Amino acid sequence: MSREPYSFQTKLLHNAFKTDKETGGVSVPIHHSSTFHQFEFDQFGKYDYSRSGNPTREALEETIAELEGGTRGFAFSSGMAAISTAFMLLQQGDHVLISEDVYGGTYRMVTEVLSRFGVEYTFVDMTDLNEVATSIKNNTRVIYMETPSNPLLKITDIEAVVKLAKANGCYTFLDNTFMTPLLQKPLELGVDVVLHSATKFLAGHSDVVAGLAIVKRKDLAEKLAFLQNSFGSILGVQDCWLVLRGLKTLHVRLKEASESAYKIASFLKSQKLVEDVYYPGFTFHNGYSTQVRQAEGPGAVLSFKLKNEDAVRQLIQHTKIPVFAVSLGAVETILSYPAKMSHASMPKKEREKRGISDGLLRLSVGLENATDLIEDLGQAINKIQLASNKITG
Ligand SMILES: *Cc1c(COP(=O)(O)O)cnc(C)c1O
Repeated sequence: MSREPYSFQTKLLHNAFKTDKETGGVSVPIHHSSTFHQFEFDQFGKYDYSRSGNPTREALEETIAELEGGTRGFAFSSGMAAISTAFMLLQQGDHVLISEDVYGGTYRMVTEVLSRFGVEYTFVDMTDLNEVATSIKNNTRVIYMETPSNPLLKITDIEAVVKLAKANGCYTFLDNTFMTPLLQKPLELGVDVVLHSATKFLAGHSDVVAGLAIVKRKDLAEKLAFLQNSFGSILGVQDCWLVLRGLKTLHVRLKEASESAYKIASFLKSQKLVEDVYYPGFTFHNGYSTQVRQAEGPGAVLSFKLKNEDAVRQLIQHTKIPVFAVSLGAVETILSYPAKMSHASMPKKEREKRGISDGLLRLSVGLENATDLIEDLGQAINKIQLASNKITG
């Protein structure tokens, strides 16, 4: 594996899998074999069965390990499969401390599945270190972070939480989906398990569902390898190839989309009808200084608040460029409505407690021209204004 001090941008293309060792092919071969012939009777080869190991999946797993600064990566059939498998490091009687505005699927896994296996949980505002410290129990085994959080883009001080976790003998997990290793490298800050929905920025084209887990510690690598093979929710080879292809352009995609996101966030902030804009690129964002310290940029996702569901409905009706859909981190701009989409599995009361109101929209900025996007959002906002003027005037 290449360990030269190349920049991240170069490493996305110039890595151990740049050329196929057998043929010189510049695209990783897709090995469909589910089983592998053993050439010797009493000495088995590196691969035996593709659930346990497959050369195409291995190419993706080693590439992401290298990019995250880990020793080993694991590819799963979805982000939730990666997250759920990592949670299997826990056992009955253990306790998890977890960010309160975590991804809706993770919330569901913890509250409705893990709870049935005797794993306890406490949701905390992970940006409040005092609350984190006082919520750690004797049986807390995992502190689970998502930063920036979803969908309010709150920033957790990773190193501070890692310090608390280490002092209390807990593992730390971090969902790095919004940042990718281009912008944030949690393993370097002491996190034990980095998790991804590779469906989002890493693959980047809304054409594959995939998940990744990356670790540095050898003991954790062995445990996760055992769990990946035991639970079996591996990523198929075609999909591994799609993620590898998406990764090659990660730098240009995320850089461009982040620049547009900043322009769009600033525009939205200037609009009277927009009650609030959440974007960690704003110097007045609560977590700005932490974000600048621990990440290379604010990313391409922001959220903003309109007055109510009716205003949201009008905005969606009048915007022409963004797709109105779940998901994020794609080449196309995606507008989503957390209350009815990513956080629909969260009871309304819990949602509102976390600030995910009926007027909140999340915007994942894609690669369309930023001015076009601003004009599109602007004309749609103006139409909401007309409607509300009609009612009041
Ligand atoms: C989408 C997402 C997930 C779940 O990943 P899937 O690939 O949809 O299973 C987890 N965390 C975050 C932050 C996500 O955006």
